[in-house]
Amino acid sequence: MFAIEQCVMCGCKDVPNQTLTIPVNMQGIVSVNVLGAKCSNPDCLEEYYDSETTELVRKIKKLTYDGLTLDK
Ligand SMILES: [Zn+2]
Repeated sequence: MFAIEQCVMCGCKDVPNQTLTIPVNMQGIVSVNVLGAKCSNPDCLEEYYDSETTELVRKIKKLTYDGLTLDK
């Protein structure tokens, strides 16, 4: 189970799991929803994903970047 004990950005210990929306904006896909966690400190709101999702997000961003490059 994916869980964050403590926010590494602000030290807040309330980082509940929640569905996060990642903007994609490519090929008709505006965004994807993934399960992650988000810091509850309103001044921080750092978002966390598990390693698999982080990799997926990285790939999406790379694809988005490549797509933008190809369009030029
Ligand atoms: Zn935080």
